[in-house]
Amino acid sequence: MLVKNKPIGAFKIFYAVFAYIIVFALWWDYLLYAKNEEAFKEKIELNQINFEMLHPSGDYYATKEYAQIISKYSRQKVMIIGEGVFFLLLLFFGLMRVRRVFLRELELVDLQRNFMLSITHELKSPLSTIKLTLQTLHKRQLDIEKSTKLISNSLTDLDRLESLVDNILFASKIEREEPGFSNEPTDVAIVIRSIADRLSYNKKSIAIKTEVPKEVYLDTDLMGFTSVVVNLLENAIKYSASGSEINIGLEDNLENVVLWVRDQGMGIAEKEKGKIFQKFYRIGNEDTRNAKGTGLGLYIVKRFVEIYKGTISVEDSSPRGSLFIIRLPRQ
Ligand code: ADP
Repeated sequence: MLVKNKPIGAFKIFYAVFAYIIVFALWWDYLLYAKNEEAFKEKIELNQINFEMLHPSGDYYATKEYAQIISKYSRQKVMIIGEGVFFLLLLFFGLMRVRRVFLRELELVDLQRNFMLSITHELKSPLSTIKLTLQTLHKRQLDIEKSTKLISNSLTDLDRLESLVDNILFASKIEREEPGFSNEPTDVAIVIRSIADRLSYNKKSIAIKTEVPKEVYLDTDLMGFTSVVVNLLENAIKYSASGSEINIGLEDNLENVVLWVRDQGMGIAEKEKGKIFQKFYRIGNEDTRNAKGTGLGLYIVKRFVEIYKGTISVEDSSPRGSLFIIRLPRQ
């Protein structure tokens, strides 16, 4: 994601200080070099005068003393140039590192700003709809069909609010040193089937097909594993067109359990694949983005998988869409 509202002023100051420090270092190195040269010439002149006074017919440039001064001068010259280059390189890499950290901080601020924007929207719109529904039901006598529809819409909104709050709570839990997850034998096959059933019921325009064995036991945290499956399936639904199919599968291997989710949606560009697991990261721009979300889902999924020493990857699905694959070791 591009860094929006980059504080140009701060960058200008940074580059000005950067340039000043480099020029300053170069200048000092040059001065040191020139002073060494000067001192050397003066020393030779002085020695030569002394030598010619003592040996009027001798050749000063052939003496051992002259050779020693020259060798010392050469060593000092190499030292000044070498140290100057080393210092400049060190300075350059240090400043580049500061710049990288600075850019990363700006990006984080931008992501957080987007998160605040989306969370405000995510909280406000279902709350307004639920409020309006309740007001309508309170004031008017609607026929049973209409009121059932309104209530069912509100329940879907409440589901969304619940999963949003769950995600935020889960994200803060996962960031603690000791997230306090359990490691209980859990039938993850049942978990997947029940989530797929619930989401298929809520979103009838999208078919969710499961390829899951009858039962698969894995030592894991029920709440965490549920959150992983919900986030992956909700994303598959969100980023797919109505009428498309989603597949979720589970493979029970000796060493690990593999969970995969395949959709026929919009897919994920190659350059975004490494970024979508970052906290608050959402592809595109908050103002132009249609699908609802906060950018926390995949971050939570990845962190959970890492805590359980597993791996997650994303690939293109054929002919279109994405395929997320999670491998969780049987510890
Ligand atoms: P969000 O709340 O935005 O869905 P996530 O962390 O779950 O946050 O996902 C991060 C971004 O990755 C999303 O904004 C979306 O652009 C992209 N993404 C996630 N899953 C899919 C998918 N199945 N198909 C296409 N894009 C996806």
